[in-house]
Order: sequence, then structure tokens, then C-alpha cells
Amino acid sequence: MFSKTCKTLVSLVLCMLLFRCGDDSNASAEVSQAPPETPSEETPAAEETPHRTEAARAAEPQPAEEEPLPFIAIDTHIDTPQRMLDDGDDITGPLEGGHVDVPRMREGGLTGAFFSVYVSPTRFRDPETWWPRALALTEHIRGAVEAHPETLALCTTGEEIRAAARDGKIAVLMGVEGGHALGTDDPRLAIQRLRRLYELGNRYMTITWSIDNPFGHSSSGDAPEEGLTRLGRRIIREMNDLGMIVDISHVSDQTFWDIMEIAERPVLASHSSARALSNHPRNMTDAMIRRVGANGGAICANFYTQYIDASYRGRRRRIEFQRRALFRPLEDQYENWVDRGAAKFRLALELDPDLNPPSVATLADHIAHIIEVGGPGAACLGSDFDGVPELPIGMEDVSDLGVLREELESRELNVRAIFGENVLRVLDAQRIDAEADSDAERISPQADSDADGP
Ligand SMILES: [Zn+2]
Repeated sequence: MFSKTCKTLVSLVLCMLLFRCGDDSNASAEVSQAPPETPSEETPAAEETPHRTEAARAAEPQPAEEEPLPFIAIDTHIDTPQRMLDDGDDITGPLEGGHVDVPRMREGGLTGAFFSVYVSPTRFRDPETWWPRALALTEHIRGAVEAHPETLALCTTGEEIRAAARDGKIAVLMGVEGGHALGTDDPRLAIQRLRRLYELGNRYMTITWSIDNPFGHSSSGDAPEEGLTRLGRRIIREMNDLGMIVDISHVSDQTFWDIMEIAERPVLASHSSARALSNHPRNMTDAMIRRVGANGGAICANFYTQYIDASYRGRRRRIEFQRRALFRPLEDQYENWVDRGAAKFRLALELDPDLNPPSVATLADHIAHIIEVGGPGAACLGSDFDGVPELPIGMEDVSDLGVLREELESRELNVRAIFGENVLRVLDAQRIDAEADSDAERISPQADSDADGP
């Protein structure tokens, strides 16, 4: 009986307390509508008085920031660094010819790019020169950013890319094209040089370019049926540990599958399109696209006409071969090979009105196909600007990127994901996991002792 009374009393007190609370909140609501000249300690208006400490402010829940995320557009492969280094071209001003400079990037809505550290083995025949050339390209790109801090920002993370976009700066990222750039088949030296390139800001390495190298076989090398070498596997593991993206463009199909067996993080094809639409070994088969999609990686479509339309490639090569006497004078007329390629393209179109080159819509077909097979997170842009001599009809250079955006929007595809967010996801997935792994390694002496093994 006593206990029942007690419970009733407790309930009554609780009820009164609840009523008080409701009463107070109503009162506060009323007071908060009072003019700001009459703040009181109990009212929300009083919260804005200078008496409140920073600590108290930080402890309170803040309303969610409504600032919209900037639209990020990242091209994962441009070959502009060569002209920057060799010709001293300053990309922050308008450049003659080629595909890329900052004014044209802004016009096309590109907020950043991976500047390719590509050492041409056809131009630099002595392998001893490859490593110094890779370093020179890397240092030159860094120097360009240092010289123009108001326009360019060196970025290695998604956060930095977003900050650059918010500040109206172009995000400059770097990626190494082809393991041959390491200039060695010595395991220790290769690892040491890879780490150096990473430290300097390179965030991906394409395992091969168009030639085989000590790490793996290329899609256009001497043995495209072969895959990764033992040293190549060691390099992939090191890249996993560093948090450096494994770039699977250019590799042979077997190298791709070997990489996917040991890749611990999302991979990237920095400039490759879809083989189902255009049968070229530089493009990815549907099985590969599916595998990359499942791995959380992405395939950045290459814009090159002769990759995105294999039947056009045949027609285009035939006309140049049959009318070579007309094409030959163009070889000497243009110093810049991108401009020479554009001139040849114009001539080919004049000579054969039925050439029917691919258009921006063809390129959009590749992107749509990658999404259809690999999922919405699988597609991105890897133009190969300044690295290819022809672009699809409707696109002369980076300033026309808006044409592609409109084409993708008209198909109701997620342009935010395709233009930037998918790449940021792949980039950040390396770092977060790598940081967690390095924490684990710090407490594992065995892992440390293995770090420099062959
Ligand atoms: Zn390439």
C-alpha cells in the first residue's frame, strides 16, 4: 500500500516536472520572438552575448551547413607537362595550340587534372635517362604550382581538391605513366624510387605504358598474353602500402587480372574506354569493367577517336596510307605533334567525306556503357589531352568539355559522379586505408622488418 502511494507521488512529481519543462520551452519560444534589445539569460537571444565562451559554443550542436558542395571536374590524364618542361610553356596563360591551358580549362569547367609524368621511351632511348626525366617532369609541375599559387594548387587528396575548387584554383595532381619511368629492374632501387615519386606528390602509377617493363606486360608489348612479373607483384604491394593508386590503363589483359588478384584498394584506369563498343586492346572488356566496379575502382574514358571507334580507326589509317604523299609535308609543317595530328585529321576529312569520325555522343556511349556494366560509381574522365592527335567531333580542346557534360545530362547520367566524385572516392580510399594499415604496421614489428624485402 505504502509502495503504491509512493509510486503515485513519484508519478505526480514527474508529471509536474514535465509540465514545467513544457511550460519553459513555450516561454522561451515566446521570449525568443522579443526584440533583440531585451536579451535575457534564459532566452536563445542571450546565447549570442559576448559572455559565452568559445568552448561553450563548440560544445553546442551547430546547425548543418547548407553550403553546396562545389562541382568538381577532374581529368585523370593530361599529357601537358611535356610542353611545360620542354618549351617552358606557362599553362596559366593562353597557349598556342594543344588542348590544355588554364583559361581553356576554366571555359570547359575543368577544376583539376592529373598531370601525367610520362617519359617517352621512343624519344628517350637510353633507359638511364628515364628516371632523371621522371624527376624533372615532377619537379617542373611542382615548380609551376609554386610560381602561381594564386591560380594552381598542388593536391593529393579529395579534401585538397575541394578546397582548391572553393578557392577558384585549378587542382594539380600528378600520376606516373608507366613503371619504366623508375628506370631500373633492381627491386630495392625500384621501391626506393617509387616512394620518392609518391613523396613528391604522384598519386598513381600506370604499371606499364605501351612497352613491357620489369614489372609487367603491356597491351601493346611483345607478349600481351603475359601478366605481372614477380617484381611487379612486389611493386603493387608497395603501392598498396603507400596508398598510391594502381593505374591499370595500358596493361595487358593478363597483367590486369594478375593485378586484381592482389589489389587491396580500388584501382583506376586513368585513360581507357570500353572494348565492347570499340575493339581495341587499350580498351577494357566488360568482364574487366565489372571487376573494377566490384573493386570500388573507376574507369576514366579516353577521348581518342581511334580508341573509341575501332572501325573509324581502320578507315582513318587507310586514307593516310593511300594518300601518304599528301600527308607527308605536314610532318615538317608543325612542330607540336598535337597540332600536326589535328592538321592531318582535317586533311583526312577533306579527302574522304565518308570518314565519319566518332563524335562527343560516341564518347558518351562509352561512359554510359561503363556505368551500365560497372555501376554508377565506375565511370570518370581521362581525356589524354595533349597526348592524342585527334578528339571526337564537337570537341577541339578542353574548352569544349561542356559539350560532353550536356550530352551526359541529356541522358540523365550523374555528371557530378562522372566528372569528379568517383575519382575523389578512389583517391580517398587509398589514403584512409593506407593510414589504417600503417597504424597496424607500427605495432607489428614483423611487418616493419618485411618492408624493404625483395
Ligand atoms: Zn597513355
